[in-house]
Amino acid sequence: MSLNILVVGAGVAGPALAVFLQSANPKHNITIVERYPLLRVAGQQIDLKSQGIPILKKMGLLETVKALCVAEKGADVVDTNGKLVAHFGINKAAEGGQRGLTSEYEIMRGDLVDVLYQRSLKQREEINKELGTEGTGSLTYEFGKTVTSLDNSDEGVDVNFSDGQKKRYDLVVGADGQGSRTRKMAFGQDGNDEAFNSIGVHTAYYSIPRVEGEGEMAQLFFSTGSRFVMTRNSDRPMTQVYLFIMKDSERFRTVHRETIEKQKEVWRESFKGAGWQTDRLLAGLSSCQDWYAHEIAQIKMKSWYTGRVVLLGDAGYSPSPFTGMGTTASLVGAYILAGELARNGKNVGAALENYNQIPRPPIDECQRMPSSVGKFFPTSKVGVWILNKSAWALAGLRLDERIARWFPAPKQETGWKIPEYPELNLEKA
Ligand SMILES: Cc1cc2nc3c(=O)[nH]c(=O)nc-3n(C[C@H](O)[C@H](O)[C@H](O)COP(=O)(O)OP(=O)(O)OC[C@H]3O[C@@H](n4cnc5c(N)ncnc54)[C@H](O)[C@@H]3O)c2cc1C
Repeated sequence: MSLNILVVGAGVAGPALAVFLQSANPKHNITIVERYPLLRVAGQQIDLKSQGIPILKKMGLLETVKALCVAEKGADVVDTNGKLVAHFGINKAAEGGQRGLTSEYEIMRGDLVDVLYQRSLKQREEINKELGTEGTGSLTYEFGKTVTSLDNSDEGVDVNFSDGQKKRYDLVVGADGQGSRTRKMAFGQDGNDEAFNSIGVHTAYYSIPRVEGEGEMAQLFFSTGSRFVMTRNSDRPMTQVYLFIMKDSERFRTVHRETIEKQKEVWRESFKGAGWQTDRLLAGLSSCQDWYAHEIAQIKMKSWYTGRVVLLGDAGYSPSPFTGMGTTASLVGAYILAGELARNGKNVGAALENYNQIPRPPIDECQRMPSSVGKFFPTSKVGVWILNKSAWALAGLRLDERIARWFPAPKQETGWKIPEYPELNLEKA
């Protein structure tokens, strides 16, 4: 049965879902609305791990993604003088399920978003060529547009849009990220607040021009005052800067709602004099074009759907960037949601209930976090010294696998296997 589906958000999960839906049934009418005026390709390196890899293979995109992967060679921990404290290598897919900071499949977020977006459009073009355009389904992206209200029931959803349009859909998919407004509209303020589990850390990402001498290693610097700074260059012309802070949570929460200029001012002030190359990194703040800051949280919900509104990816189960599993979880979710819709035909309710159950084990694994994030955010010089010494010992003793406990991820070898959906007409993984 073909459905009239609205997807909110053209990040990773939204376009991936469109690819699976079209592959299963070209007659679906799919509309994707994206709040940004154009495809939002900001973001730094994201990881693809575990079940995300066979899913990309099934989409026929693994080689494309491989070719776009960044060439990071591992991670160095440095002290305030830039002196090497510890070195960690790359975690290969075949060695322990891809754990650690640098994994084998690291890609710039914008590259992956673009690959999935382009694939969905090309697929549509091919369908239209083969079947014509009359009554054969559609895929429409609408940028600079969002949903303002939803009237949800078990039969369908009436949607009001920011441009004044009103439409009815069989299904609305909230793929609008960690701060999902679809979640708030469908589950209410209380449901939203309950789902949002803050880690107590705030982060900002941006890029500045690379300077001579910056190699292909990520660099990690632990500072006093619960601050942590990371840069990543890999083989790209820009240096990715990551700032993390684990204090003044209320203040930063408020600041995230301010203008970008105001946000930059507060972050600049908070990291000034933090040590190492922080002042140089802060100097690049004024001119950076891809500023992105948010509160790090995990989204945990008993149900990912209500009526005919369903949440997908970070909107429903963000594991937080600390796990490096957000992209993998969103691909797993998109695959299973489309698979269950294809399998259950007219019975959309059954499809949603199965989607709500089947991916729980991998999503729970994706959400496994270090027992105490706080230990990575020492307040004092002594705390930094202890942390650096621990990193030195782990790296020096070649105990990289212990790092896995700091950045946990599902073990491929013991983990959950993706179900097969012949109904999706995909390649064999
Ligand atoms: C700009 C940006 C940068 C990121 N950078 C990193 C990073 O460096 N490292 C990392 O680990 N993770 C990063 N992430 C998160 C990462 O992309 C996700 O964890 C993961 O890929 C799952 O993707 P998703 O599609 O569920 O969510 P997202 O990738 O967050 O995509 C959500 C999409 O929905 C859009 N959207 C949001 N609200 C609305 C609305 N009300 N109406 C319509 N559209 C809406 C957003 O603009 C975005 O395009 C970033 C996300 C964004 C949006």
